[in-house]
Amino acid sequence: MLPMPPLATADDRLRRWIARHRRVFALTGAGCSTASGIPDYRDEQGEWKRRPPVMIQAFRAQDAVYRRYWARAYAGWPHFTTAAPNAAHRALAAWEAAGTLVQVVTQNVDRLHQRAGSRAVIDLHGRLDVVICLGCGDETSRAALQETMTADNPAWGTRAATAPDGDADVDPALIESFVAPRCPRCGGLLKPDVVFFGENVPRDRYERARAALAGADALLVAGSSLMVYSGFRFVRLAHEAGLPIAIVNRGRTRGDEFAGLKIEDDIPRSLCGAISTFASDSDSRIRPGVPLT
Ligand SMILES: [Zn+2]
Repeated sequence: MLPMPPLATADDRLRRWIARHRRVFALTGAGCSTASGIPDYRDEQGEWKRRPPVMIQAFRAQDAVYRRYWARAYAGWPHFTTAAPNAAHRALAAWEAAGTLVQVVTQNVDRLHQRAGSRAVIDLHGRLDVVICLGCGDETSRAALQETMTADNPAWGTRAATAPDGDADVDPALIESFVAPRCPRCGGLLKPDVVFFGENVPRDRYERARAALAGADALLVAGSSLMVYSGFRFVRLAHEAGLPIAIVNRGRTRGDEFAGLKIEDDIPRSLCGAISTFASDSDSRIRPGVPLT
């Protein structure tokens, strides 16, 4: 009797899937950035790990919510700025450079894809490093605002446990004393240029992402539970268009039933393993001429 051939590993299956497609659209989520030290919101069942993020309506209407948001954001910022791209970001950047990953749409607001060298990136939920005034629309850098908040809160330390999206756990008594920032031009409320819960993705941004998906021949989801509809709808669109869908995520996702390939594994390790022909954990430089298979 002949021995059974070995079963294909997850890396093999993902590598073959990648090799089959020429215009891949990748949707990435928090699971891509956890290895960079930015924690995830949800556990492997897709449930909240901690108190759900602030809703836009409360942020706009309630002083205490606004103050608490900025106090925690202030405390979390120093840690957030130390995050650097990991092997997942580098693998995706190398894949794009090799020519068959045509678009990254990310739910992350950390800009780590861009820092890893990805060029075709749509920040679906915005970017945390820019602040906008809800009154006059003025834009400023988050780094500059951090300095303003430091000046306004001289007695404040920045020691706190870190939470997702630059948030941090802070003693409630400290929060009450925090001087929250206001627009220096009009006195309006300031908000990072990210899509809060209760807000919609700006229409033109969504349309750009949708157009990119329409030109793609496959969808890869990496590191998202797809619990937020703004991400999940790309899976639905891809499914309706008959595109092959692969999902790499630790734990279940809302899109599992639509995926022809589902890999439950560590995201950087998994992507790196499957894209290892032109990217590795220690070296993200492209080796020209090396085929994808
Ligand atoms: Zn303003």
